[in-house]
This record gives sequence, structure tokens and C-alpha cells, in this order.
Amino acid sequence: MCDCMVCERIEQIKNGKNPYFVRELRTGYVVIGDHQRIKGYTLFLCRQHAEELHFLKPAFRDAFLHEMAVVAEAVYNAFRPDKLNYELLGAGKGLHMHWHIFPRTAGDTPRPGPVWQLGKELSAEEFLPDAAQLEDFRRRLNVELDKLL
Ligand SMILES: [Zn+2]
Repeated sequence: MCDCMVCERIEQIKNGKNPYFVRELRTGYVVIGDHQRIKGYTLFLCRQHAEELHFLKPAFRDAFLHEMAVVAEAVYNAFRPDKLNYELLGAGKGLHMHWHIFPRTAGDTPRPGPVWQLGKELSAEEFLPDAAQLEDFRRRLNVELDKLL
């Protein structure tokens, strides 16, 4: 069994047990962020377990980057931020590539800059979406993805 947090999430999607799941695309999966301190925070999980873009076959890599841009556009249209932040990070059991897409609005952090300055506040329990919010975000993202795909 693979010891990867992202593969685990994808397994849950395949088993119909991931309430954050929005849409399966050719190169990955669109999911809503676990915590919604930043409203509309969305992720795009790479279908392949790979840690770097250049580890992917070129055609798949290009399609993955293209689909990430489409997902980002859908997030933008669904949540109308001032600016999107795109991040491809990795740590611990989450080295498997996954894009963090944050719809940012002016003043959403104490200082201008990346959301990570919020530290534990980002994953505070009060920002766990409830079923109604998940349903709403899923619907909004799917409406926008339908227009773009
Ligand atoms: Zn993985």
C-alpha cells in the first residue's frame, strides 16, 4: 500500500467516499480544499503519483498544466477573487503533485503575501465546510467547468 496522502485521497474518490470531490479530468482530480479560511480554495490533484513536473511524460505534463489553468479559470469565475494564487508545493506524505488554487481578496491576510502566514488558522476547525457549503461550491465549480471544457 502506497504511503501517500494524495493517492489516499484519490482512492477515496474512486470509492465514492470523498465529499470534497468535484470533477475528474484527464490528468487529475478537482477537489475543494479541506478548510475554507480562504473561500473557494480548490486543489487539482495529479492523476499520476509524481513529485516534479519534469518527471511526467511531456504530453501528459503539458495536458496537466493546461487543465490546471482551466481549473484555475473555473475557480476565478466561480468565486470572483481579486487575484488567484497558484502553488505547487509538497511536504511529508504529500509530495505527489497537487496544485493549491487560492482565490485571494484584498485584506484576507494580516499582511500582503502567501496564505501560509496564517499558520494554524488556515486549518482551524471553524473553517471546515459543512455539507451545504460543499454542495454549493461543487455546483459553482461544475457550472464553470462545464463552460470551459
Ligand atoms: Zn501519490
